[in-house]
Amino acid sequence: MKYNLFGKTGVSVSAIGMGGMRFKDQSDVDGCAGIVKAAYDKGITYFDTASGYGKSEELYGVAFNEMKKSRSERPFYVATKSSKPTPEGVRQDLETSLKRMNLDYIDFYHVWCIINPGSYEKRKIGGAIREFEKLKSEGLIKHICVSSHMTGEEIAAMLNDYPFEGLLVGYSAMNFSYRERALDAASKMNAGIVVMNPLGGGIIPQNPDRFSFIRTQEKESVVEGALRFLLNDSRITTTLVGLSSIQEVNEAVAAMDGFKPISQDKVNTMRNHLKDAFNELCTGCRYCDKCPAKVPVPKLMDAYNHTVLRGKDQASIDRLQWHWGITPDDPVLHACTECGICEEACTQKLPIRERIKAIQKAAAAVKS
Ligand code: SF4
Ligand code: SF4
Repeated sequence: MKYNLFGKTGVSVSAIGMGGMRFKDQSDVDGCAGIVKAAYDKGITYFDTASGYGKSEELYGVAFNEMKKSRSERPFYVATKSSKPTPEGVRQDLETSLKRMNLDYIDFYHVWCIINPGSYEKRKIGGAIREFEKLKSEGLIKHICVSSHMTGEEIAAMLNDYPFEGLLVGYSAMNFSYRERALDAASKMNAGIVVMNPLGGGIIPQNPDRFSFIRTQEKESVVEGALRFLLNDSRITTTLVGLSSIQEVNEAVAAMDGFKPISQDKVNTMRNHLKDAFNELCTGCRYCDKCPAKVPVPKLMDAYNHTVLRGKDQASIDRLQWHWGITPDDPVLHACTECGICEEACTQKLPIRERIKAIQKAAAAVKS
């Protein structure tokens, strides 16, 4: 296992971290705790969860009870989150998380799920971020981090406003263009960078032929290729893998152990190939992001990628709702005046207006 320094914190964490939202059978307490312990025994030291991941915190707590016996010789680090906008809400969330996980403190506590600049302002104005600082001064949390689904530019602006010690963000071989500026900004301020959703929400393993270009070694699977693409990125501190079985622990660790650095030329080729191989996909370049009607075109087109790849209209709606925080009745879905400016700017020459109409139709179907 490789270990990387987490920004300025002085802490080293494993380059592969465990994401705690994919336990299959949460009623199987011993089985789930066994997966956590197996990950720890294989050298994984970063464990991410959230109060909203079902029983994830409780299941981690069972494993941590055992793992704490060896924590002084083999440290491990826990990340969890609060999405509450008020000081009282944040404190209550933290107390619940500590109790559920049998811990005295949280290593990396996240201002959770900043989906747009407005939700960041709400946490600031509501006093949530001040409460994080208070919890840190009390020793109940060690580091203040943030998790966000905003675009790279929006995240960069947020990091410019507040010096978070770590950033948790979705980033993969499929969507790196959307978040490139966020990684650059976090790296420049020497914040830890934790990447979630490294397999593009399952799209990469479900489309092995389309993503075969990501393989750089013989007999490498696309999953290994996609993980190694991230492991090769020196800006990234740790890549979270949602582990739901001991076999998946072994595969993730094997991807790390078998990692060989990829040359910059090869990385550039892979990035360009993404553009060539996915002509009908939005690449997240954002050249279209100047809609006079304020339609967030790159977000809508990213969502439509999921319909193209999964073949289901509903996939766009799921992506908009759960990744971008845009619900089926959000007015932005209906603000397009069909002026065509975005299509003129689109580097992929995508039929954006047609796709927006398809999204509107799918949204209407969900509402009816
Ligand atoms: S066509 Fe629609 S989405 Fe594109 S720029 Fe014009 S109003 Fe905005
Ligand atoms: S210009 Fe085209 S490819 Fe680039 S983000 Fe906009 S829709 Fe996507």
